[in-house]
Amino acid sequence: MAVSHVGIDLGTTTSGLACLRPDGNPEIVPNADGERLTPSVVYFDPHEDIKLVGTAARDGGDPDRTVPLIKHHMDNPHHVVNIDGRAWTPAEISAIILTKLKRDSERTLGPLTECVLTVPANFNELARHATLSAGQIAGFTVKRLVNEPTAAALYYAHTQGVQGRIMIYDLGGGTLDITILEIKGDDVRIITSEGARRLGGSNFDEALLDLMADEYRRQNQAELYENERQRRQALQSGEDLKKRLSKLRQVSNTIGNDRLGLSRMEITRDVFEEAMSRLFTRSHMLVEQALDSARLQPREIDHVCLVGGGTRMPRIRQMLRAHFGKDPISCGNVDECVALGAALFSQKASRVHEVCNHSYGTLALMEDAATGETTYANSIVIAKDTPIPCQQSQTYLTSENDERLIEVPVTQGEDTDPRYVDVVGMIHLEVPPGRPAGCAVTVTYSYDADQRVRAHITDQLSGQSQEVHVTYQGAGVLTQELITQRTQEFQSLHIE
Ligand code: AMP
Repeated sequence: MAVSHVGIDLGTTTSGLACLRPDGNPEIVPNADGERLTPSVVYFDPHEDIKLVGTAARDGGDPDRTVPLIKHHMDNPHHVVNIDGRAWTPAEISAIILTKLKRDSERTLGPLTECVLTVPANFNELARHATLSAGQIAGFTVKRLVNEPTAAALYYAHTQGVQGRIMIYDLGGGTLDITILEIKGDDVRIITSEGARRLGGSNFDEALLDLMADEYRRQNQAELYENERQRRQALQSGEDLKKRLSKLRQVSNTIGNDRLGLSRMEITRDVFEEAMSRLFTRSHMLVEQALDSARLQPREIDHVCLVGGGTRMPRIRQMLRAHFGKDPISCGNVDECVALGAALFSQKASRVHEVCNHSYGTLALMEDAATGETTYANSIVIAKDTPIPCQQSQTYLTSENDERLIEVPVTQGEDTDPRYVDVVGMIHLEVPPGRPAGCAVTVTYSYDADQRVRAHITDQLSGQSQEVHVTYQGAGVLTQELITQRTQEFQSLHIE
């Protein structure tokens, strides 16, 4: 019998797959290497046509053939990885990771066809599109995308009986997500989410690498690394150091390598925390921002729940304790709870009530009331935190005579200034010739359960109305035709 309730956490640094047992409890399915979580790293083996995924790929070979942290690029329509004359998109690299998880799990679970995939709450339209494409290429029917903090909340409710108004503090490998939500019985209602890209464990590793390089230079008047391979080795040893500092107040580490020479580095937790203070402060500011967006005081939060390996850092726990006046709750397996929650979500999706995590709008010419000047501004159609699914419309006037093609840029972001929002796609409507400027066009956006935007434009003069696909441009974006082609191709790809 095929297992239908499978959840996958496609993480920046590690990924995991969980399934729902017949008793209704989720469990992690280890990979074929016997690990519960798989490093999200792909290595393109030059000798045999094999794509290696996981620990061997991370620690193995040539950095020019190794792809870590691909999740950082899921929202970049122009990012490709060139290897052996082929350009791989972020969706394809992610599909290699998903294929490894799928095939390894199928050894014990039997054929897997459907899954739920998790994404950071603040993932934008492009990144969600790329994640769905990755799932499809790996041979899955992706039932739903679920936000990582939401999946984790389900796990906390299921295993710890957490109820009430909750803040999920999720510090993963690449992102920080803070979500405030309400759990009543089995129902989860999201209130708001704030997120920061590039504020995750890997940013702490990079900052620690700088500290190690300074120390090495001080001791040896030489550089800690001279090439990418040495840099990645030093980064890995920095990550180990960071993890040990979560347990110990002082640790010592060997830095350098055989060729450059080895040095001893002593570091205390205080020095580490001082060096990371900018990152800790940013994370604290995001907590305040989330409370502001929810219009809540710290005392109105019943529980703060920890998610993501980064929350093992004592400083994070201290900051939350001081801010909320109570200890945050940890389920222990903070790096697995997103995958486990995703498996629960596959069964409880109808009990989860999400909101839009970004405002969607368009660029429209507007007159500045003070100066009388007309400039382009971001006009919001669906506001952040609107419960979904939802649909909203705005009517705009065309600005030119004989406009044949109405082009509507789809924006994502809160600011009215176009410089501070992302144009995530374009929608087009062809209209008859000879029309004057000032014709009314109604733009309707709807936001589906996967938090993907759909658009509809209606030309009021002709009554012509069209459901339009939001299109994305860039070498890093796959068309539906290419996705179907890749899905076929991936079936015979050697992935280990
Ligand atoms: P996750 O996405 O939840 O797997 O989080 C991975 C991140 O958590 C990586 O950046 C890890 O380095 C970090 N991490 C895991 N364990 C610890 C620890 N004990 N102390 C500090 N950071 C950790």
